Amino acid sequence: MAILANGESRLLIDGKLVAGTAGTFPTVNPATEEVLGVAADADSDDMGRAIAAARSAFDDTDWSTNTELRVRCLRQLKDALREHVEEMRDITVAEVGAPRMLTSGAQLEGPIDDLSFAADTAETYEWRTDLGHATPQGIPTRRTLAREAVGVVGAITPWNFPHQINLAKVGPALAAGNTLILKPAPDTPWCAAAVGEIIAEHTDFPPGVINVVTSSDHAVGALLSQDPRVDMVSFTGSTATGRAVMTDAAATIKKVFLELGGKSAFLVLDDADLAGACSMAAFTAAMHAGQGCAITTRLVVPRAKYDDAVEAAAATMGSIKPGDPTSKRTVCGPVISARQRDRIQGYLDLALQEGGRFACGGGRPADRDTGFFIEPTVIAGLDNNARVAREEIFGPVLTVIAHDGDDDAVRIANDSPYGLSGTVFSGDDARAQAVAARMRVGTVNVNGGIWYSADAPFGGYKQSGIGREMGVAGFEEYTEIKLIATAAN
Ligand code: NAD
Repeated sequence: MAILANGESRLLIDGKLVAGTAGTFPTVNPATEEVLGVAADADSDDMGRAIAAARSAFDDTDWSTNTELRVRCLRQLKDALREHVEEMRDITVAEVGAPRMLTSGAQLEGPIDDLSFAADTAETYEWRTDLGHATPQGIPTRRTLAREAVGVVGAITPWNFPHQINLAKVGPALAAGNTLILKPAPDTPWCAAAVGEIIAEHTDFPPGVINVVTSSDHAVGALLSQDPRVDMVSFTGSTATGRAVMTDAAATIKKVFLELGGKSAFLVLDDADLAGACSMAAFTAAMHAGQGCAITTRLVVPRAKYDDAVEAAAATMGSIKPGDPTSKRTVCGPVISARQRDRIQGYLDLALQEGGRFACGGGRPADRDTGFFIEPTVIAGLDNNARVAREEIFGPVLTVIAHDGDDDAVRIANDSPYGLSGTVFSGDDARAQAVAARMRVGTVNVNGGIWYSADAPFGGYKQSGIGREMGVAGFEEYTEIKLIATAAN
């Protein structure tokens, strides 16, 4: 495998690595703006072939019922990715602009290792449950509840944590017996293409079970939501695109699984270590240039301590210089593209127009004229009604908001169209737990606990999504329930 060295990439369709019919498109290093090489550009015919291959692998082979084969293939994939982890790391740092230090966790190694959880779940899962005897309408009946694969899954993913999101769909969907077409974001095609290449060359996945289709054209991905041969769409990305996916999928009443945007709140209660909590919030908001859907981008602090909180957040955030992602010390690299950088700058300009001020940062770093860098920025002086407090910015930007006690902090946290994640810091665990219980979000960090792990479901309330990824709940998203009622007399 030499995907980085030769810049060459192919689609994986029906077990074969093939060129894209629409030719190729460039993939760019966001830290240097250099073209790394090209990716295969699929057109609608390529996508049609991938869907047909996945359909046939589901309908005409024993993949969906051969648990032993599925578990073996997933373990092979995990081992092969592990063997190539250093090449994968280089691709990820170069193409995503991901700080190298994050590739030992959620940005690469975490999701590779989590394939074991998917394989283990398939192996130990209770595919059939005896519901026992009953006499509905006077007829003695034995009831069995069966879990089965949904069918053909279309997986559409974004660029910010490509391996985490690609593999958190591929692993459980295949483990549960589905076949799949992976359509990654056009900004990070190589991360997915490399997985396709490893599958083709180092595993026994039968042809068509998994297909990897890179494309520069969003409309090619949209075919997955529209095509009647696809049974389920598993989508991670912005709420606006999620809405389009759901609309497209409505025509064929597809199962839709959505992981969308967020505007999560970090609540500091008045008995917490203010400086420690604010510093942690600032560090988190700057990591990977703030390109994480679950990052807590609203720091909500006691009104009486507002100025101290802004100062503590700015001291940390201002000390984090956006830098070269290949360096082991870098926490905040570039954002993915010029388009994203300009979008973030637009929000920074808006913050000033709305009456806010920058406690640190506020634009492009003076010492970096190439690369898509933005300074870690703390916005102060606004309340939760400001657009920068309501809309997802997806950059290293933290807005500090004052609260008037625990009830008000909860009100502010929940006053959002999103409901993905949240954090509570308090000196009193019971008090923090009571606040956490009132937050309308899918994951909560209390006093520094980590919710990210293979066996822990992740996902959002409200406009942050539908369903859960990871954990047994994430596996079950890719199953249907069948109830078999057998006359017992
Ligand atoms: P995006 O919505 O622009 O694109 C995501 C994917 O959807 C890409 O593969 C894109 O090609 C595809 N796409 C675009 N239009 C489509 C359409 N009409 N039909 C089908 N597919 C289409 O998102 P992005 O900019 O790549 O990623 C950033 C967003 O993703 C942020 O909003 C972030 O919060 C969200 N995100 C959410 C999670 C989560 O788990 N909740 C995780 C990571 C990122």
